Amino acid sequence: MGKTDDRTPATDNAPLRYDDTTLRDGEQAAGVAFSYDEKLAIARRLDAAGIDQLEAGIPAMGADEQRFLARLASDGLRASVLAWCRALPGDVAAAAGCGVDAVGISVPASDVHLRGKLGRGRAWALDALRRCVAQAKEAGLYVSADAEDASRADPSFLAELARAAEAEGADRFRFCDTLGVLEPAGAFDAVRALKAATSLPIEVHMHDDFGLATANTLAAYHAGATWANTTVAGLGERAGNAALEQVVMALWRLERVEPHIDATQLRSLASLVLTAAGRPLPEVAPVIGSRTFCHESGIHVDGLLKDPATYELYDPALVGARREIVVGKHSGAHAVRAQLAALGRPVDEREARELLPAVRAEAQRRKRALTDAELVALVTCN
Ligand SMILES: [Zn+2]
Repeated sequence: MGKTDDRTPATDNAPLRYDDTTLRDGEQAAGVAFSYDEKLAIARRLDAAGIDQLEAGIPAMGADEQRFLARLASDGLRASVLAWCRALPGDVAAAAGCGVDAVGISVPASDVHLRGKLGRGRAWALDALRRCVAQAKEAGLYVSADAEDASRADPSFLAELARAAEAEGADRFRFCDTLGVLEPAGAFDAVRALKAATSLPIEVHMHDDFGLATANTLAAYHAGATWANTTVAGLGERAGNAALEQVVMALWRLERVEPHIDATQLRSLASLVLTAAGRPLPEVAPVIGSRTFCHESGIHVDGLLKDPATYELYDPALVGARREIVVGKHSGAHAVRAQLAALGRPVDEREARELLPAVRAEAQRRKRALTDAELVALVTCN
């Protein structure tokens, strides 16, 4: 069985396979330019975390990209390495020359892309896809036939593209919501319709222009998609892509689909990728935010101290994080007591209550939570 053999349809709680495109769509985010070493480090970390396939670059970009793809292909990774190609014979030949085991052959599926971008019609797209899929199969490659702007395409033409790809021996069909125009019900229906048209495994590539990329990926999974094309931290064109960490954790914690991805790596992966992208690590973001597991408000902290399940859906350690409790304007006596006890300055409940007005005033004055030293200083003053 090859690295990417998978024609198994999704069943209840079946795993979803991940084709991560941080190194392709992620790097296409405006202003992002990974170095060779950064790309190698990201690829190796994704592989170590258990990603099934790495969409690692575009051979048509030139010699440097081809050199990187060739290096990755011979790096002994467990993951399949996929090169992204336009539906052009030269692109496919360049990909084959890199020694990768897989190609994505991308063809516009919508009339607005075909006409507006390429000045072509549907017949050209069908023919180009057929020829390139056949060429890639002849070269022994796993082939993902990628329908760009599929969400704005005529569904009957999309079905025709999928059937053509299948007839030429493609291994997978990728549905791209290139502009992020779908909502979950539409994503479900679109994948359902595709499943009726082809027996190829379906992959989805969802963009986040309306903040729905993760929701749409989950909806597609429920409709039978078996592959998700994600990026770390959602890095990608415009508002980005479905974030790897969000899809993995939402499936796990909401849908009870145990990940084969090592979730404890998700936050460090985000840090690695965003640093290489020259972008700040978000304070507030699902799974990866620096303050995502930080609590202040009195009612929440009181609940958490009694039973973490009151306000945490999962133990932060599952994603390599730890719970943080800060003392600030909204803190209650329990949090103040717990924090001071942890700092070796225990107070009783009455003292904690008496401290609260000073804590609130200080947090209001500083417009933030208090540091440990500031909290201890208040005890000393009182
Ligand atoms: Zn994209």
